[in-house]
Amino acid sequence: MQNSMNIETACQKIIATGHKMVEQKMIAGSWGNLSIKIDTESCAITPSGRAYDSLTAQDIVIIDMTGKKLAGDLIPSSETPLHTAIYKAIPEAQAIVHTHSIYASACAAMHKPIPAVVEDLVQIIGGQVEVAEYALPGTQALADNAVKALQNKKAALLANHGVVCWGTTLEAALMTAEIVEKAAHIYCICETMGGAVLLPDDDIAVMHDFYQQHYSKRQIGKGDETLE
Ligand SMILES: [Zn+2]
Repeated sequence: MQNSMNIETACQKIIATGHKMVEQKMIAGSWGNLSIKIDTESCAITPSGRAYDSLTAQDIVIIDMTGKKLAGDLIPSSETPLHTAIYKAIPEAQAIVHTHSIYASACAAMHKPIPAVVEDLVQIIGGQVEVAEYALPGTQALADNAVKALQNKKAALLANHGVVCWGTTLEAALMTAEIVEKAAHIYCICETMGGAVLLPDDDIAVMHDFYQQHYSKRQIGKGDETLE
């Protein structure tokens, strides 16, 4: 198994992160979903239609990359095609967070990308967060449009729906979802006050490159430099 993760560990991580996201108001009720890649052939994913506050590790479903259930009693998330499409298209993706957070969803409802308004956003994303073309929830078309909008970035907006982020860990994917939501919030505030001054492309490239080379490693305890 390549990049294999213990199934129990993956399920526990999903539960802990789901509870954290409810506390942060990133998701409400059963909306939004999380997954972790177990290996190249399978992933652990939240079940469909279950509230996060009552979810336990036993409720997490294991599926293969075609969406077929391998283990678990519940039905996998209705957005399973979105998760498997991203894992298939982006081999570095090890975990996915999909939320309906308010300000990112507001931008998605306007079909407006979140531009390069703040440094932490461009450090992680490398530019603006694009909007995927609209498709009905739970469809392969939504998954395909999201992959197209992601390009080589770690987040994309889903038109009239929400946001999807991937990371090399679930913690990293959640952090990206938090940064995207914060940037969307700032962008919405700026729009009411005459508009933000966007970061220049050259500076975005420098910050994104530095983040990838050094800071992201430091966050997982490997690097020794900081951008601040
Ligand atoms: Zn959704």
